[in-house]
Amino acid sequence: MPRQRAGQNMIRIGIDLGGTKIEIIALAPDGHELLRRRSPTPREDYRGILRAVTDMVRQAEAELGQSGSVGVGTPGSIAPATGLLRGSNSVCLNGQPIQADLQDLLSRPVSITNDANCFALSEATDGAGQGAPVVFGVILGTGVGGGVVVHGRVLTGANAIAGEWGHNPLPWPKDAERPGPPCFGGHSGCIETFLSGPGIERDHLRAYGEALTAHEIAARAALGDAACAATLGRYEERLARALAHVINIVDPEVIVLGGGMSNVARLYVNVPTLWAPFVFSDRVDTRLLRHRHGDSSGVRGAAWLGAAP
Ligand SMILES: [Zn+2]
Repeated sequence: MPRQRAGQNMIRIGIDLGGTKIEIIALAPDGHELLRRRSPTPREDYRGILRAVTDMVRQAEAELGQSGSVGVGTPGSIAPATGLLRGSNSVCLNGQPIQADLQDLLSRPVSITNDANCFALSEATDGAGQGAPVVFGVILGTGVGGGVVVHGRVLTGANAIAGEWGHNPLPWPKDAERPGPPCFGGHSGCIETFLSGPGIERDHLRAYGEALTAHEIAARAALGDAACAATLGRYEERLARALAHVINIVDPEVIVLGGGMSNVARLYVNVPTLWAPFVFSDRVDTRLLRHRHGDSSGVRGAAWLGAAP
């Protein structure tokens, strides 16, 4: 189906399809939020999920009195070769032609991408990275993901994995970081095992025998706790190395952080100093910025996705 160019005055509908809830948002062309609703995700019921999504779109359009473009953000990716979803934590969606089915049910093109790409698109469109030609969006949460937006469009890639950086190895590893913690994919020392929330918690426990949440580590470091400050220091240095790798390949103008760890204010001061020795340039003008839309970026990015020409 040819992609339809959204009209200048068309509303943008975004769906965040998660394992427990479905959220819908409608944005005016200027990004103003017109409507937002939530509904529980039907449990392991593919047809039920399709019905819930299409009902939510129809209800929103009836309420607003106009139809819009539709974009969907959901974990996993549509395999380019087959058009089937893979890698979703909602297992019933895996192997299903969800994009084709939603297009049939809604009689229009439907764009689908993962949450990290939605985050990056939201922040690149009217968030912290607004106006930057190339934005790398990073989620530092329970997992670590990334997405690349080039001139306002998500870079998908031949395998629909562009920006999936969390399962690359931590670059320039030190002896103590080798082989690194095991990762669910079978490798060890993936960036995610160091930079996710559980990653910093495990690192702190290993270094000091103290079981604290990532939030507690950051809060205590801010109050002068030496062990927590040292853990956060190690975290920053690793984040700097990991992002230097991205800068050397993609060279984005802006890197935007999201997820729980993005709320640690000192990252934005320290990491750009720490990445300098690893970036292959005599000066580094890349800006490291905190997200503007926070938890809303997933669903807002899905809405912008549907508007992509
Ligand atoms: Zn991994």
